[in-house]
Amino acid sequence: MRILVTGGAGFIGVSLCKRLMSEGHNVVCVDNFYSSLKSNLDGLNGDRFELVEHDIIEPFTESIMSGQFDRIYHLACPASPPRYQKDHIYTLRVNFEGTRNVLELARACGAKVLFTSTSEVYGDPDVSPQNEEYCGNVNPHGIRSCYDEGKRAAESLCMNYWRRYDMPMRIVRIFNTYGSFMDKDDGRVVSNFIVQALRGKNLTIYGDGKQTRSFQYIDDLVDGMIAYMNLDENFPGPVNLGNPDEITVVELAKKVISLTGAASQLNFSDLPQDDPMRRKPDISLAKEKFGWEPEVNLEDGLKKTIEYFRSIV
Ligand code: UDP
Repeated sequence: MRILVTGGAGFIGVSLCKRLMSEGHNVVCVDNFYSSLKSNLDGLNGDRFELVEHDIIEPFTESIMSGQFDRIYHLACPASPPRYQKDHIYTLRVNFEGTRNVLELARACGAKVLFTSTSEVYGDPDVSPQNEEYCGNVNPHGIRSCYDEGKRAAESLCMNYWRRYDMPMRIVRIFNTYGSFMDKDDGRVVSNFIVQALRGKNLTIYGDGKQTRSFQYIDDLVDGMIAYMNLDENFPGPVNLGNPDEITVVELAKKVISLTGAASQLNFSDLPQDDPMRRKPDISLAKEKFGWEPEVNLEDGLKKTIEYFRSIV
């Protein structure tokens, strides 16, 4: 198949492009390197890979619009809190205008689309675990809203394209994910902690560190996205993809210190505004619809991720 991946140079995109190529597909990666590194694509050469440097808030060029794609994985969006808060309005535009451009492209060529939404649509949830029926507790004007509300608007756009045009559509809500090709400077907790530990620095805990997250390893996520894309039923979701194994931020920090063998201590600082207190996916729907559940436990995934960071830090 000929598959387009928006945001293909980002942390998730690179692993997805690699997997699709290993399955024999031709991949066209669209990226503008706003929050990703060109060097991530170093291993992705050859005649089955093409890079198109393009910002999706601009309409696609004629050559892309007239191209034939069987499938589109739409990942493009700055995704770590510091990066998506660098330019709030740009983040909103990527989600709404960018997603609209991608959906128009899909409509023009009849491609099946998978849109990557986020667990952030649940905001600071007052139920746990979160299933797809839960409508969330989002602050619509807070500093995270450009991302939360941007993704919610993009989900609405996808659902309404599906309703109006009967397009093949899949929406996934991705929970915290970690692994190789995370950018060491993007500010997420796993990369921050590992880099700090490997540099012999203290680990920065925001707030009291009792807030929870549930971390999934990148390979599990890629398996889930592909399994959902392969589903024959035109079921738009949304479907949660995450690892239900919940852990506090302090526990995570201690695990990273022990796995790296670092002598680091914990440094506590202010909790950012609207930082969710807990997050844990209910993944029954993914299990029921396409038989997916994560296989890599946190310790094994962290060991592999630490090896990756050792090679770049
Ligand atoms: N966090 C932290 N130290 C860091 C980075 C993040 O304590 O150096 C906390 C952050 O406040 C949040 C959790 O770790 O409660 C996960 O943050 P991340 O930015 O990775 O993802 P989020 O789930 O907030 O989008």
